[in-house]
Amino acid sequence: LDLNLVPIFDGNEEFGGVLLVLQDVSAIKRLERMRSEFVANVSHELKTPIAAVKGFAETLLGGAVNDPETARSFLQIIFDESDRLNRLIGDILELSKIESRRVPLMFSPIELEPFMSKTVELMESEAVRKDIGITMKVEPGLYVEADEDRLRQIVMNLLSNGINYTPEGGVVSILVEPVLLPWMEGMNEEDVDYEHIRIMITDTGIGIPKKDLPRVFERFYRVDKARSRSSGGTGLGLSIVKHLVELHRGSIELDSNVGIGSTFTIELPVLQQ
Ligand code: ADP
Repeated sequence: LDLNLVPIFDGNEEFGGVLLVLQDVSAIKRLERMRSEFVANVSHELKTPIAAVKGFAETLLGGAVNDPETARSFLQIIFDESDRLNRLIGDILELSKIESRRVPLMFSPIELEPFMSKTVELMESEAVRKDIGITMKVEPGLYVEADEDRLRQIVMNLLSNGINYTPEGGVVSILVEPVLLPWMEGMNEEDVDYEHIRIMITDTGIGIPKKDLPRVFERFYRVDKARSRSSGGTGLGLSIVKHLVELHRGSIELDSNVGIGSTFTIELPVLQQ
């Protein structure tokens, strides 16, 4: 609580009393704290690649440039770190746009079977490079009202994580089905108007420890910093996904077992209205 005492004077500048103002500032304080934490995190995240670029450029200028092999490997690091900076800034801007609701969603009906096939195609080269198989099971004839580009961003982010956090030879699978409510059971399929669809993305990867499960949707939270870094992660992917799902009035859940794999389950309303 914020407490303020304001003296009151009447028209003749005579002291008339005191106004007591009580204001609940906990929500404002919390927002302020979150904002300053975010700024601190962003600065920290940006500093690391900038320090690398600067350090390696300095060493090159200091003479390393004369050894072609060293020069080449340092330039590669500078290139990779700039790339990483670029991705970080892109994700930070994206997240801030989504959080301040500056992304107008364009809803249209999307047929999920062709949508998923196309999305998987876009991830194919990344999967092949890591020798990961992608399987897909989509119930035919399912539609959902969504912003197509944003829905693609959601699915690609989850597939990309599945590929990144799964050892070679593993599998990432997609399952799309209607959400069956108890009263729908036993009914003729044509007679049922599904209200929600479910998208499940499962991998056979490294998994996430139970204690980290609730935190992985937080900005910049990573279970294993080194691993996320080496796979080019920004630590913002899942926060972006969660926000986008919520903008579609949907929900996202995560279940995972270390050494066995992870499943992300998204439920979206079929109609947005
Ligand atoms: P990143 O860019 O680091 O991948 P994300 O926000 O996408 O950031 O994910 C946050 C963290 O959650 C990751 O750093 C990783 O530790 C964990 N994670 C996300 N997806 C998976 C997955 N499919 N399997 C195991 N761990 C995962």
